[in-house]
Amino acid sequence: MPDSDVADLKIVIAGAGFAGLTALAKLGKRRGLHVTLVDRNSYSMFQPLLYQVATAGLTSADVAYPAWTAVHKAGAHFCKGEITGIDVAARRLLVAGGPPVPYDYLILATGVSAAFFGVDGAAEHSFSLYTRRDAITLRNHLIAALEERSVAGDARDLAVTVVGGGATGVELAGTVAELRNIALPTAFPEIDPGRVKVRLIEAGPALLAPFRPALRDYASRELARRGVEVRLGTTISRVEPGKVIIGGDDGRPLDSDITVWAAGVAAPAWIGELGLPAGRGGRVLTGPDLLVEGQDRIFAAGDIALVDGQPLPQLAQPAIQQGRHAAAQILRLAAGQPARPLRYRDKGIMATIGHRSAVVELAFRVRVRGTLAWLAWLALHLITLLGGRNRISALVNLSWRYLTWSRGGGVIVGDDPGDDA
Ligand SMILES: Cc1cc2nc3c(=O)[nH]c(=O)nc-3n(C[C@H](O)[C@H](O)[C@H](O)COP(=O)(O)OP(=O)(O)OC[C@H]3O[C@@H](n4cnc5c(N)ncnc54)[C@H](O)[C@@H]3O)c2cc1C
Repeated sequence: MPDSDVADLKIVIAGAGFAGLTALAKLGKRRGLHVTLVDRNSYSMFQPLLYQVATAGLTSADVAYPAWTAVHKAGAHFCKGEITGIDVAARRLLVAGGPPVPYDYLILATGVSAAFFGVDGAAEHSFSLYTRRDAITLRNHLIAALEERSVAGDARDLAVTVVGGGATGVELAGTVAELRNIALPTAFPEIDPGRVKVRLIEAGPALLAPFRPALRDYASRELARRGVEVRLGTTISRVEPGKVIIGGDDGRPLDSDITVWAAGVAAPAWIGELGLPAGRGGRVLTGPDLLVEGQDRIFAAGDIALVDGQPLPQLAQPAIQQGRHAAAQILRLAAGQPARPLRYRDKGIMATIGHRSAVVELAFRVRVRGTLAWLAWLALHLITLLGGRNRISALVNLSWRYLTWSRGGGVIVGDDPGDDA
């Protein structure tokens, strides 16, 4: 569409994740458009590598991309602030402690957080893995627990429970087990690795549900080879400090010094207060064109959007394609054309279990596992990671980890979770 077709419009993108930044790139530098990106942080976080931050393989700066770099490239504006609501009638996005941000069109792309499914104590006594702060907090607890046990005479077990057998749970459990198997004997020789237990609990009958059975079985075998205790078909009824209770209220307690909740996603509470139509997990319901149901100026894209008739997985590719689509529909509406439905192009799925072990499933029945899949996984993640400096530092830090952790290297510690959300 020629730039001259675009009317003088204020467009606000809420959220600098995959969906928001893709929309920004699509709308950037068009005459007549005034685009504002709003995020609570001044950086965009690359969630797929957060588990490496949580297991001390990467620094959080390796996976954080400055939002203003993307904003500058797009000729847009950046507003840093916590979004608290939308004044739909006045077309304004409400931001804590700052003036409302007016819009003609809004793209809501604020992502999701953990779904605790009403499990008692889960929110209070388990760790999540969605933000930079989550990852550093988990890593610091893990390292502190090891340090405590390395003190002479402290022979307590350390039990780590990961809840949820999706990609995040598998990646995290596999890497914590590798940390124990490979790095621990040199970094903390006082600790008997046999006393560090890693457990993965999944309510369903299999790990990595979206993958073919052969790849799921491979993932289970690889976890077992790393010494992860996998419990399938197991539900958690309560989480308490130092333990999880499985199998109903009168269920059995299992020691768990560190419990990580990686089972399911839901919209954060403030989304529920917006008055927008919500579906499963409180996610915002949209039509096939990504316009929020009942709205003609608010789009939703990425994890927060529940698209009518297209239950897409909460992954980077759907978020990227939805962000681009929402931006394109705004341009169409501005030019007096109707919005079109999203046509999702499935590019496949992948997950890693640990060093030189991953599963990849692509179109045309292409299925790969093992070292080749792991190299493909690594290459894709480094390419998708935003920022040249980030790619180089992530490559250096991961290479350092895998080359040196048997000699006690490759364990990054030291930074503080800070106040960021
Ligand atoms: C640990 C983990 C591992 C993953 N691994 C993979 C993987 O290997 N492959 C894959 O394809 N996908 C993976 N995913 C999923 C993928 O990261 C998400 O699907 C994707 O990030 C969704 O993009 P989004 O733009 O919808 O939201 P996000 O990327 O979550 O971005 C949302 C943005 O909104 C901002 N925000 C939220 N609330 C507010 C507020 N109130 N005020 C201001 N700003 C706000 C946030 O700061 C954030 O910048 C993983 C996710 C996690 C958590």
